[in-house]
Amino acid sequence: MFGKILIANRGEIACRIIRTARQMGIATVAVYSDADRDARHVAEADQAIAIGPAPARQSYLSIPALIAAAKASGAEAIHPGYGFLSENAEFAEACGEAGMVFIGPPAAAIRAMGSKAAAKALMAEAGVPLVPGYHGEDQSEARLAAAAAEIGYPVLIKASAGGGGKGMRIVTGAADFAASLASAKREAAAAFGDDHVLVEKYLERPRHIEIQIFADQFGQCVYLFERDCSIQRRHQKIIEEAPAPGLTPATRAAMGEAAISCARAVGYVGAGTVEFISAGGAFHFMEMNTRLQVEHPVTEMITGLDLVAWQLRIAAGEPLPCTQDQLAIRGHAIEARIYAEDPTRDFLPASGTIRYLAEPQTGPHVRIDSGVRTGDRVGVHYDPMLAKLIVWDHDRGAALARLRSALAAYALVGIRNNLALLRAIAGHPDFAAGAPDTGFIPRHPDLLAAPAAAPTPMVLAAAALHVLARRGAALTAETRASPDPASPWAARDGWRPWGRAAEDVHLRAGDGDHRIAALWQGEDAYRLTLPDGTTMETRGAWDGERLRLTCDGRQETLRVIEAEGTLVVLAEGGEYPLHAIAPDAASADEGAGDGRITAPIPGYVRGVPVAAEARVARGQTLVVMEAMKMEIALTAPFAGRVVEVAAVVGAMAEEGQELMVIAPEG
Ligand code: ADP
Repeated sequence: MFGKILIANRGEIACRIIRTARQMGIATVAVYSDADRDARHVAEADQAIAIGPAPARQSYLSIPALIAAAKASGAEAIHPGYGFLSENAEFAEACGEAGMVFIGPPAAAIRAMGSKAAAKALMAEAGVPLVPGYHGEDQSEARLAAAAAEIGYPVLIKASAGGGGKGMRIVTGAADFAASLASAKREAAAAFGDDHVLVEKYLERPRHIEIQIFADQFGQCVYLFERDCSIQRRHQKIIEEAPAPGLTPATRAAMGEAAISCARAVGYVGAGTVEFISAGGAFHFMEMNTRLQVEHPVTEMITGLDLVAWQLRIAAGEPLPCTQDQLAIRGHAIEARIYAEDPTRDFLPASGTIRYLAEPQTGPHVRIDSGVRTGDRVGVHYDPMLAKLIVWDHDRGAALARLRSALAAYALVGIRNNLALLRAIAGHPDFAAGAPDTGFIPRHPDLLAAPAAAPTPMVLAAAALHVLARRGAALTAETRASPDPASPWAARDGWRPWGRAAEDVHLRAGDGDHRIAALWQGEDAYRLTLPDGTTMETRGAWDGERLRLTCDGRQETLRVIEAEGTLVVLAEGGEYPLHAIAPDAASADEGAGDGRITAPIPGYVRGVPVAAEARVARGQTLVVMEAMKMEIALTAPFAGRVVEVAAVVGAMAEEGQELMVIAPEG
């Protein structure tokens, strides 16, 4: 076995590989770009080497930089993870030429499967069922259009070099063919430097079912059953499960055998996945991924095996650890991918800083493969997947219940993410019914309507107690420093010679403003009066960001996270962003009193209602930002004139970024 390996990747998969290597007593070398200096995978490896600037082409995709790092570290083998160079035959060869083992299949097998068209031709020869289609060399529009007509509409145009759903177009009729072909070719050329396409029948309501295979250098090959990856957005997976709901043992065995034929046809070694598309009881070869897949943990959970350990053993020249008849499925596993993206904006990737991250408790039923920690900055350079949550139980229903409760315990503040969508899917009766198809998300638009739920009284109470506790702490500090610390005027109980004063807590939520009157009742206890006149007797007990809230004889634990003036209250399954408006709001909201209007938190500029040279009144809205799911109006701290407009509608503003400058009148 190797003594030291280099991991030519980042994020969760680098952390995942490090974990197994460590268990096997193998030293690990991480690599990192300038953007990843403080990344989790760097901290977790035994050693880490800088490989270049943030853009992947100059770092994680640079073969010379990676080979140099491997040589400098003395690594004997390189694990490519997934993505980046994992399916790059030149990289596999470069490793060999540098005297290192590439932990993956032979370069020839990568090449054979690298082109979807060539792979299909090869699979047809090996007798593997294909979707009816054309994958020939003649790329003229006439030939491709004739093929489409022959196949019968709807058809799917796919980039032969494709991946990540790029260069893919559904064409419903001959009239649209030429335009769709041109745009698919443009996208393919831009993304892969190769505009070859194939045309195949577009299957309605298909399922994506793939088979995990493993082969050793001695000609042995086994399949580790299937994964159902039908829950997709933009033709890309977000939830995967194993086994596939409703798959019969006979179909499973037939798919497994077909996958083994694929592997044998290209002299495969190592971990690979053969993807099938299944419709109407039949299954067809789609492509083979010659690497470890993102969703490999569900296979690990139902087989009890460590696929990274298998990869390492096979790369080191060991035979497969078991035979097909020693493999069995145990229980059911589901994986949900947590992405920094905005499901309500066509899944646009998001960037930002993770202000708060809470993960569910892990154990035999719940696993988390994550590449991030609180405080990490998620940039625009790499894939926006942050982590994976994997659950296991004896059957699908129990696994689904685990998924729901684990997702409810997950919290991620500071960056747009798909947790609400994942919760909505996990809670949807149609998903619980089983055997979803790839059209599940598009067919259920209600899943995406992330409602800006009005805060409940418990949520308002939690936020109010938080604000009051902050104020109290500030006041205590002030009192201690004052010349008369014993003054009753400074006491927290709101003492006044004419009685007690109620404090005003002003909260802005997605549904509008809430002003709460709070009357001190004793240590951390307040009588709160909501805008509708309801009163609540409340008491809070804090444990970090956790608040045990007692409210009229009812107790609940909520979490209140503060990030630059925004409070996020996490209550049962819900997330409520609130903006606490300071009593002296004019100066609190708009940054410095010097006329510089800056972004209080990272967010998008949604409106700039005033132009340069405009005269503005005190309190007039200058810039409207959208951050943490709510609108924030930045207003003029004083009357004056706009001297500079830096804000651009639609652009992302970093925290503290200058958006506008106004100068006082006269
Ligand atoms: P990529 O390599 O770009 O990810 P794939 O060939 O793996 O593309 O296909 C991605 C997804 O697109 C599949 O999981 C499936 O949902 C959909 N898809 C692919 N081929 C077809 C088809 N012939 N009919 C319907 N959907 C398809």
